[in-house]
Amino acid sequence: MEIFRHDGHLTEETLAALVHGEPLGETARLEMAEHLAYCDLCLQRYTDALADAPLLVPEHSCRESLWRRVQVRTVRIFTNRYAAAAAGIVLALTLVWGSGDEGFRLPELPEDRPTVSDGLRKWNESLDTTMSGINEFFDGLGRQAPSGQGGN
Ligand SMILES: [Zn+2]
Repeated sequence: MEIFRHDGHLTEETLAALVHGEPLGETARLEMAEHLAYCDLCLQRYTDALADAPLLVPEHSCRESLWRRVQVRTVRIFTNRYAAAAAGIVLALTLVWGSGDEGFRLPELPEDRPTVSDGLRKWNESLDTTMSGINEFFDGLGRQAPSGQGGN
């Protein structure tokens, strides 16, 4: 089989053998590869011959699995982005609608609950009692002292 034409380019027979994967010698393959590396005309002819050859069909198409993964990822992104906001809105609406027409109210406190003023009044009373006791003690001391000096 002639590899090169008289003008130095690859023959049609060589290109057909290359496209159809026919067994070629090691030297012939090296010469063809070297020529295709620098000759644009033969590279274009080889590309055209390859375009006519049937294309390989993959055993398993990745289109279905890729589309499924895109859908799953879209759902996941939507869920992550809007689930927290939706939960916050639902909680706020539950609080607003759950309160009815009265709006928000503080819980009612029992009437007899201890207050700060009650505590202050009790503390004041005990302070008065203590101070009156101290005053009585010093009054008693003042009454006893003159009688003690008078005894001398
Ligand atoms: Zn060439």
